[in-house]
Amino acid sequence: MATLTLSTLDKNYGAFHAVKGIDLAVNDGEFVALVGPSGCGKSTTLRMIAGLEDITGGDIRIGDRVVNDLPPRDRNISMVFQSYALYPHMTVAENMGFSLKIAGRDTATIEAAVQEAARVLDIEPLLERRPAQLSGGQRQRVAMGRAIVRDPDVFLFDEPLSNLDAKLRGQMRTEIKQLHARLGATVVYVTHDQIEAMTLADRIVIMKDGLIEQVGTPDEVFNRPASRFVASFIGSPPMNMTEATVTGGALQLDDGTTLPLPPGFSPAEGRRVVLGLRPDDIYPEGHGIHSEDGHAVDIRELPVNLSEPLGNETLLFTELGGQSWTARMLNPRNLRRGEVLRFHIDLSRAHLFDAGTGHTLR
Ligand code: ATP
Repeated sequence: MATLTLSTLDKNYGAFHAVKGIDLAVNDGEFVALVGPSGCGKSTTLRMIAGLEDITGGDIRIGDRVVNDLPPRDRNISMVFQSYALYPHMTVAENMGFSLKIAGRDTATIEAAVQEAARVLDIEPLLERRPAQLSGGQRQRVAMGRAIVRDPDVFLFDEPLSNLDAKLRGQMRTEIKQLHARLGATVVYVTHDQIEAMTLADRIVIMKDGLIEQVGTPDEVFNRPASRFVASFIGSPPMNMTEATVTGGALQLDDGTTLPLPPGFSPAEGRRVVLGLRPDDIYPEGHGIHSEDGHAVDIRELPVNLSEPLGNETLLFTELGGQSWTARMLNPRNLRRGEVLRFHIDLSRAHLFDAGTGHTLR
């Protein structure tokens, strides 16, 4: 395995600047997920690392080798695609062993490598089948097997689970995590699914408009987002956001409702800010997830406009400051539409952003 370093990496498509001089250092054995909305440049970045796309500027290093101008086959990387990209006329074993065959390895070496990868992925009984005779999940496993067999320095995954149904996606996610733990591989994983990124990655890279907004552990990007953009992208359901003006040492929402300033913040009087509160931090009395000990909790009676029961919890949609807020209720009970409940708003867990720049205040 190896480190992977991107230095001021740039990509132009004609006049369009798709990746704008990004820097990123992936540690040996680290699992890094690139996430961001459609068009932010994550696939282009991955394809440049793979050598499938020329770079416009900067450097890509694998270990201590600059690989900018090397063809894909000489970079010692393996890529797993969303489409699996298996050869339909070959058996599973032939698909998995193909890269070693063209590299001129002897049959015994290829067979041993294929057997070992098939054992790790639990697909030994499938080795003589062709791709058309496999389910989506099995094809995905074969695509991973083909990547493992090469014993690469770096694994690259491009949305590998997006063609699978929700249940299988969850199952494969667990398998990929176990596989990473077993192989200790250096991985760069592109996904638009923030839950996939949160559950799999050691660190998450959040991209926007060809730039990196934040790099951090799942805990950091969730609990200490660097910007309004990161805060709204990470977490499901998304963080509630509302604009406010700092007035008389409190937050005045645009319809005149006031809320106390979250503890630890002291923005200047008159400043326009955005208050962010996760659904976990607004809940009916007695139904919260986190401890309130020592917290600044604002309590107010609010109507339940809609509820979505999820079994062990219920999402509630209420109204405050003239807009809808998502709240979360643990230990659900039956609710009447329009029922008024005492909601706790845990301001100690709130986030504040500058309304203009979107940067986190502190
Ligand atoms: P998605 O999640 O939709 O795949 P992404 O973050 O992976 O999005 P990229 O595929 O990296 O986005 O594309 C980044 C930007 O570059 C997009 O605006 C896209 O339209 C543009 N782009 C990508 N490939 C080309 C190309 N070959 N020619 C011109 N523009 C391109």
